[in-house]
Amino acid sequence: MTGMAEAKSLLARNIDRIVSAGAEYADARFFVDDSSEVLVLYDGNLEANDTGFETGVGVRVLWGGAWGFAATSDPASLDSCFDLALRNAQTAAGLVKVALRMGRLPAHKDSFRSPVEIDPIAVPLAEKLDLLTSIDARLKEDWILRRIVTANFTRRHQLFVNSDGTEIEKKLTNIFADMMVMALDAEGQMQRRSMSLYTTGKGTRGWEMLLAPDLFSGHAERIKTELSQLVKAEPLQYGRRSVILLPGQTFLQVHETIGHPLELDRILGYELSYAGGSFVTLDSIGKLRYGSERLNVSSFGGIENTPGSFGYDDDGTPEKDYLLIDKGILVNVLSSRAMVNEANDRAGRKVLEESGGAARATAFYRAPIDRMTNVNILPGRDGGLEDIIASTADGIVVDNPTSWSIGSNREHFHFGCEIAWEIKDGRRTRILRNPTYQGHTLEFYNSLTAVGDESTWQLWQVDNCGKGEPNQVMQLGHGVPVVRFDDVITGERG
Ligand SMILES: [Zn+2]
Repeated sequence: MTGMAEAKSLLARNIDRIVSAGAEYADARFFVDDSSEVLVLYDGNLEANDTGFETGVGVRVLWGGAWGFAATSDPASLDSCFDLALRNAQTAAGLVKVALRMGRLPAHKDSFRSPVEIDPIAVPLAEKLDLLTSIDARLKEDWILRRIVTANFTRRHQLFVNSDGTEIEKKLTNIFADMMVMALDAEGQMQRRSMSLYTTGKGTRGWEMLLAPDLFSGHAERIKTELSQLVKAEPLQYGRRSVILLPGQTFLQVHETIGHPLELDRILGYELSYAGGSFVTLDSIGKLRYGSERLNVSSFGGIENTPGSFGYDDDGTPEKDYLLIDKGILVNVLSSRAMVNEANDRAGRKVLEESGGAARATAFYRAPIDRMTNVNILPGRDGGLEDIIASTADGIVVDNPTSWSIGSNREHFHFGCEIAWEIKDGRRTRILRNPTYQGHTLEFYNSLTAVGDESTWQLWQVDNCGKGEPNQVMQLGHGVPVVRFDDVITGERG
C-alpha cells in the first residue's frame, strides 16, 4: 500500500467482500507508522535508548455474534488477513453463548491530529540528551544517592475503516517524562521525591511541551529541597484524620478506584482472570451513591492536550464529553459498542444509551477493549489549596504514589505516598515521611468534603495502564483538582 487513498480503498473493498460473505460487522486499523522512543538517564548515565517502529493492519470481523481477529505486517497478505479474521469468527461462532452485537452507526469521514509544534521523535538524539542531562545536573547533590530522568515519546499515524462506512485518519503524538531523586533517611530507609510531566489540558503536545519549565523541568529544585527535608522527617503516626490529595496523587486514586471499576467489560466479567472485576453492577448505574454531592466525574476524549484524546475510538465512535458521576451518583460507565449492547441484553432493559467511545487497542496486532480516555474529577468551589488547608483541623497533604494495593473488585485500597505535610488547626506544620492511607472505595468518596477550584486542576498522564490478555499497555489522562477526604485511616498500626 502506498498512498492513503489507495490504502482506504483496499481496506474498504475487503470490508465489503467480508460483509457480502455474511459478516455482521468488520473493521480494519492500518498503522502506517507506530513509533516509540524511551530514554533513561540513571545517575547521569544513559541507561536506555530504545526505539521502536511497527507497521501493519489489524482486522476484526463479527460473524454469528462472535469476534474473529487477525493481523499482518505484510501488505501483500492483506486479503488473506481478512479471510483469516472471517474464519476465526466463524469458528468462534460455534461456541458462542451470548451473541455480541455492534449495531449500526452513521458513517463518519474525518481526521484527528493531536496538536504538535515539534515532532518529538524527529528531534535529534543529542538535543534530547542535552535537555535530560541539564535536568539531571540540577538534581545532583553529594547526599543524593540516585537520580533518574526519563522521557518517552510515541507517534502513531493510523487509518480506520469499518463496515458502517466510517473512515478516520489519525495522527497521535504523546510525550511523557519523569524525574526522581532518592536518599537515605536516619533509619537507613530509602526516601524519594519525583515529578512527572503534566499538562493543563490545553496547548500542544510535542517536544515544546517538555521545554515548558512549569510543566516539568522547573520542579527539579523543589523536589530536591523536599527530599532534603523528608530524610530528616518523623514518620506519620497511625490515626484517623483528613487527607488532602494533590493532583500527583489524586490521578492514581481516580485511576484505580473510579476509572477501572467503571470499565464496562470489567463490570461484565471479561477481565476477571487478569485485571479483575468490579464492585459496580449493571443495577448500580443510575442509582449508586458513589460519593458525596461534591463528586462530579466525567469522561472526555475531547480535551485538547492529553494522551486520552484521540478523536474517534477503535469502534469508529466519535469522542464526546459525558458524566460518569453526577453530584455523587453513578450515571454512566466507560464503554464500547458491543459491551453496551451486551449490557442492555443481559439487563433486559436499556441500562446504557450508547457507546462511550472507549474502545481502544494499543497496537495493530491487538483487538480493542474498553479503556479509560480522560477520567476527570471536575473542579469544585472550595477554593485553592491554601483555602482547603485553612479549613482543615487535623490532617495531612500527600503527594505522589510510592505503592498501591487495590482489591480485585476495586472495593478497597491502600496507598503509600512519597511525602506528607502535617496540617494542624488550618496550618502546615511539618513534613512527615512514609505516609499511607487506606479505605473502602464508596466510604472514601462519600467522605469527600472539599474539591479545589480550577486553579488546582491539573491533567496528569498515565503511560502504563495494563489490561487485557494478551496485555495491552495504554496511555491516557486524568484531569484532577486538589481534594480532601475526612476521617480516613492513615499510617500503619505500630
Ligand atoms: Zn490502569
